[in-house]
Amino acid sequence: MSKKAENVVTMEKIVSLCKRRGFVYPSSEIYGGFAAIYDMGPYGVELSTNIKNEWWKYMVQIRPDIVGLDSAIFMHPRTWEASGHVSGFSDPLTECKKCHTRLRVDHLLEDIGVAADEKMSEKEIDKIFSENVKNIKCPNCGSKDFSGAKKFNLLVKSNLGNFTENWDKEPAYLRGETCQGIYVDYKNVLDSTRVKIPFGIAQIGKAFRNEITARQFIFRTREFEQMEMQYFVTEATEMTEYEKLKKYRWDFYTKVLGFDEKDLKWHKHENLVFYAKEAYDIEFNYPFGFKELEGIHARGDYDLTQHTKFSGQDLTYTDQTTGDKFMPHIIESSVGVGRTILAALCSAYCEEGEGESSRTVLKFPYKLAPIKVAVFPLLKNKPELVAKAREIFDSLTPSMMCEFDDNGNIGKRYRRQDEIGTPFCVTVDFDTLDDDTVTVRHRDTMKQERVKIVELDGFFHKHNL
Ligand code: ATP
Repeated sequence: MSKKAENVVTMEKIVSLCKRRGFVYPSSEIYGGFAAIYDMGPYGVELSTNIKNEWWKYMVQIRPDIVGLDSAIFMHPRTWEASGHVSGFSDPLTECKKCHTRLRVDHLLEDIGVAADEKMSEKEIDKIFSENVKNIKCPNCGSKDFSGAKKFNLLVKSNLGNFTENWDKEPAYLRGETCQGIYVDYKNVLDSTRVKIPFGIAQIGKAFRNEITARQFIFRTREFEQMEMQYFVTEATEMTEYEKLKKYRWDFYTKVLGFDEKDLKWHKHENLVFYAKEAYDIEFNYPFGFKELEGIHARGDYDLTQHTKFSGQDLTYTDQTTGDKFMPHIIESSVGVGRTILAALCSAYCEEGEGESSRTVLKFPYKLAPIKVAVFPLLKNKPELVAKAREIFDSLTPSMMCEFDDNGNIGKRYRRQDEIGTPFCVTVDFDTLDDDTVTVRHRDTMKQERVKIVELDGFFHKHNL
């Protein structure tokens, strides 16, 4: 009996499609996996690269006032003292006394509607936790017996360059965020390029955090990539530039990545760290609810002031026309690649049709699709069809990611391409040998049309591939 497909995006469906179709694999799975670490499979790495390319184009290429950077993952340990990470980069942790699951106290409180966040002191959050603990159940075993809230530092330590036994007393940290590399290189960028305030420095890179609870697939991982842009401004223009950046970043999701406005919302931080002027998150409607996709913060002059203090270097800026010397203020945009990939997958996921003709399709904007065109010979055992299809495939691959597939029936090959979001499939059949035309099938409408081989380039160009 045919069953109507339910077009509901759940994490189970996304996780299963990601594994089945080669987007995301658990890391070191043959050894049982490694908690909160994931690998990008063949289609995941294409999707991730396309997202990063779109971000780079939008944040660097079309912005004459923003330059790029790729700073190293390892930095001088003093960096993390200056930034406050050594003393204050921590999340509040509790342990269920029955099943020993470790949980984030701020998340447990959030779940019962009590405002709390990781920036509160251990004392503050422990007080709120003990006042509300009677209403909280362990999500793993249901027990109500918890240890008190304790702050746990998230920095990941290493012995890089330290050959002593006590290396953990003076560890080299794996960076907890990419922006510190931008702050410490800001003077080099000023001295070696023609940037003038207001200007930005952008980078994409890995960051590492000892996350306590990491159970939401690629939403929260211990190794992840960030796309960050730090914008250097005067104090007087900080808040007007901040509003501009907020709008610019919102447009990235709606206009560039094609997310539905209904799946996005602003979340204003009520508990600001002492130096911040304002902080908003853009939240995305994931299957587990609206959660932070990106943070946009007005950080005042805290970062450069701290690095001046700890390095002893003068990081002030001199205005070339007025001669004024001042410490720049910074506004930032910071988003995880993994959270953007997950949002793009959820936005694109569709189930259509019924029974035999039902299909799952990822309706990515074409620019995000991992494979742009799939090329099929109708039959695998007809050398003339295979040769023609290979010829077309070879002519397209220099300009876009294509896939050649001669396995199984055409219907199954279409379904497979639908599931990875390929916008077009090209089939070479017996008519091709007579009239040099192919069937082009559109992913979204499933419509098919005949196109001359010599016109394929123009056809795909017209569709912005
Ligand atoms: P959260 O409150 O969800 O822990 P955060 O406020 O600590 O996030 P930021 O420090 O502002 O996050 O980092 C900027 C961005 O980096 C986040 O908006 C998110 O997209 C991404 N990010 C942060 N931590 C992780 C993580 N553990 N895994 C994946 N992405 C992350």
